[in-house]
Amino acid sequence: MPVIKGKAVIISAPSGAGKSTISNYLLKKSNKLEFSISATTRKPRGMEENGVEYYFLSIPDFKRKIKNGEFIEWEEVYKGQYYGTLKSEMDRIWANGRHVLFDVDVKGGISLKKIFGNKSISIFIMPPSPEELEKRLIKRASDDPEKIKMRLKKASKEMKLANQFDNILINNILEKAEEEVFNIVSSFLSQEN
Ligand code: ADP
Ligand code: 5GP
Repeated sequence: MPVIKGKAVIISAPSGAGKSTISNYLLKKSNKLEFSISATTRKPRGMEENGVEYYFLSIPDFKRKIKNGEFIEWEEVYKGQYYGTLKSEMDRIWANGRHVLFDVDVKGGISLKKIFGNKSISIFIMPPSPEELEKRLIKRASDDPEKIKMRLKKASKEMKLANQFDNILINNILEKAEEEVFNIVSSFLSQEN
């Protein structure tokens, strides 16, 4: 169990539902929050840089960190692709006097909520429909059709876990969803405990 020195905001969603877009909005609007940079074994996409969006690791390096107990949680999110939250990230952010923003998959979000309890708020971003989710993944154009199929298959399982989150927010009209998430998070961060 880590020493909890701040609060945590946990954002999870099926891939393509809009959690990166909404997380970036929160980070721009609130200087109290800082993004937890996860480690991953997937390759960088587009303009992604090591140490900005992710720490990009080889599979042996990732496995070594698992063995050394460096992750608070990790998942094989897709076959052969590992993602994990480093304990050192939380310590770094809390030492900066900020609260941690996690953008993790649905299982990871449920694990983190169990660890941080009422020091955290968990928000599930729900796409308006499976059809709209597919459209967004195609429009984002960051995955090939095979990967999109894999992400959609996983999404249908993940949506069944939404009720394990503190809040479920439907991301239909983006500006409205951003505003609502911001209000939920601001109210949580301003609470005393
Ligand atoms: P995630 O991080 O959950 O995988 P992204 O934030 O990358 O999802 O969003 C997936 C795609 O959908 C992006 O191209 C984004 O611009 C778009 N998008 C996000 N929210 C909306 C919305 N409410 N309406 C239409 N498109 C959206
Ligand atoms: P992407 O490859 O699209 O960046 O991310 C794929 C999925 O992995 C997303 O759902 C993202 O939230 C999730 N993810 C990113 N970092 C972590 C992490 O540290 N732990 C877990 N469990 N999932 C993560």
